[in-house]
Amino acid sequence: MTAMNFPEMEGPPTSADNWDFHGNEHAVASLKHAITTGHLSHAYLFTGPAGVGKGKLAKRLIQALVCEKEPEARPCLECRSCKHIETGDAPDIERIAIGGVCDEGGPAHKDHAADGSTRIRICQVRRLERVASLAPYAAPRRIFVIDAADDLQREAAHALLKTLEEPPSSVLLIMLATDVDSLLPTVRSRCQEIALRPMQHAALATALKSRLGVDELTAARLAREAHGCFGLGVRLHTDPSLSMLRETAAADAERLAAAGRNDRFDYAATLAGRWSKERGSVLETLDCWRWWWRDRLHEAAHTPGATRCSAPEAVRALRAVARTREHLLANTYPQLALEVMMLDLPVLAARAGEEARSPLMV
Ligand SMILES: [Zn+2]
Ligand SMILES: [Zn+2]
Repeated sequence: MTAMNFPEMEGPPTSADNWDFHGNEHAVASLKHAITTGHLSHAYLFTGPAGVGKGKLAKRLIQALVCEKEPEARPCLECRSCKHIETGDAPDIERIAIGGVCDEGGPAHKDHAADGSTRIRICQVRRLERVASLAPYAAPRRIFVIDAADDLQREAAHALLKTLEEPPSSVLLIMLATDVDSLLPTVRSRCQEIALRPMQHAALATALKSRLGVDELTAARLAREAHGCFGLGVRLHTDPSLSMLRETAAADAERLAAAGRNDRFDYAATLAGRWSKERGSVLETLDCWRWWWRDRLHEAAHTPGATRCSAPEAVRALRAVARTREHLLANTYPQLALEVMMLDLPVLAARAGEEARSPLMV
């Protein structure tokens, strides 16, 4: 009751708006502004590294739109609609991801979770198109969240263009992407893009400390390991095996940067073997490698003279890792894709105490 009448008096500023979103104030502000002024775009593209909050931002945007209690883009998070969004069972909201449902008959279709799909398929997009043309069931809009849009099959991305070009007025499309370069430029240009960036480590540590109730040292470590991404920081805390996996991956990146071709190819074979059974862990490893080479790029740009790696080399490495992820998801022969990456990665001098080897000399 009081919340309805005196919303400005409810709670501290961060919880009063209930978006409960850390960092990237510009993103929240711009979405709230769009909602309150009636200028919501029909398609959004949220971009940024894994764990930066793209999914959470999508969730809050939807809650702000469907909330039964709070006006002015402030989701209450307590009403039936807000709760349904939180648990993922709202009838007019669909999440499209790798391995989702499809309504095309035949044994090859139904739910692509069972067939080891590595990309969002064209039949899933065709389904989106069909469902999008129907009037919403309960909510004022039908909302689709494509997670992750950079994992769309090429033909699927082309099919999506049709919906993006002439969207039914009752449809809102929210796409999430980590690697914008792998999106079709035509898809990208038809969305309103909101780029989410990692937080300053100190600010993230403070946020994690209060959210997780951990001590200062732990919070600082999590913030560092999460590279400033709130969601990743929380995951690292709740899943120690993820923390270990990422630590190992970063150490491997360090070791392989100075390793010879034989070592690199052995590693490629191991990773390729893992790809068939633990795809998630291989993608997680590649994500760590991107961060590792991003750090080298940062060093090259900010500490000239003291670098093991030039900026163009680091950029080359980043492209190689991104390309390999693409090839793996496109079902290219995984070992070959990983070996090509190993050849593309620059060879750096070992850190002090390690022996440098050229890959050509092994
Ligand atoms: Zn609500
Ligand atoms: Zn299908």
